[in-house]
Amino acid sequence: MSSTQYKRILLKLSGEALAGDQQFGIEPEAIGQFAKEIAEVAATGLQMALVIGGGNIFRGMAASAKGMDRAQGDYMGMLATVMNALAVQDALEKNGCDTRVMTALQMADVAEPYIRRRALRHMDKGRVVICAAGTGNPYFTTDSAAALRALELKCDAIFKATKVDGVYDKDPAKFDDAVRYETVTYMETLEKRLGVMDSTAISMARDNDLPIIVFNLHEEGNIRRAANGDNIGTTVQG
Ligand code: UDP
Repeated sequence: MSSTQYKRILLKLSGEALAGDQQFGIEPEAIGQFAKEIAEVAATGLQMALVIGGGNIFRGMAASAKGMDRAQGDYMGMLATVMNALAVQDALEKNGCDTRVMTALQMADVAEPYIRRRALRHMDKGRVVICAAGTGNPYFTTDSAAALRALELKCDAIFKATKVDGVYDKDPAKFDDAVRYETVTYMETLEKRLGVMDSTAISMARDNDLPIIVFNLHEEGNIRRAANGDNIGTTVQG
């Protein structure tokens, strides 16, 4: 049984979290930092599923803006998330954490296919499930995949780990007077385009009362604090 306030959570990590200081690619040192924390939190008994983005390698929308077929680019983006998932698996296992990568696109030589009931079983056994290849469909994002997996795997919340401390009324990188919300409604994030997650993901969370906890991944200890229910970022809820 988990000693945290949640039984099971879904942690969404964007591809950029894996790139460290670089604009592109995978920086093992950067992954090592949060992998240690994820392993520690999983060891407390909190069940965890991870959804990993791919933006540090490839985004279908960006490629389509330069002339590539959108669906073709999106499949490439999904493949990018698989590379990231394998890198995260490697780092978690180095921290003694038992994991399984499950892919929404079949590639049985590198990972298991995503099967909901099997994913639940893995988590019951204490394994961290790393969901890769998004939803398996073009025209979606890994934010939407995070909402989908969180709902079908009956997670208590989505942990959206980002590079800022939460959700602000305006861009804190551009405005000194930007104010961070402690809580904000789904509707407000949609209407004000607060950029928490994409609108498909927010709508799915709203329709199913799934809280989204937004916090800064780069502050050491934050995954544990979020798991404890500490007030460290912004909670998006009804
Ligand atoms: N993608 C997709 N379907 C999905 C999830 C992802 O087509 O269900 C593609 C899409 O091209 C996206 C890319 O994979 O741009 C990488 O995912 P995302 O942009 O969500 O990564 P993040 O921004 O979280 O790093």
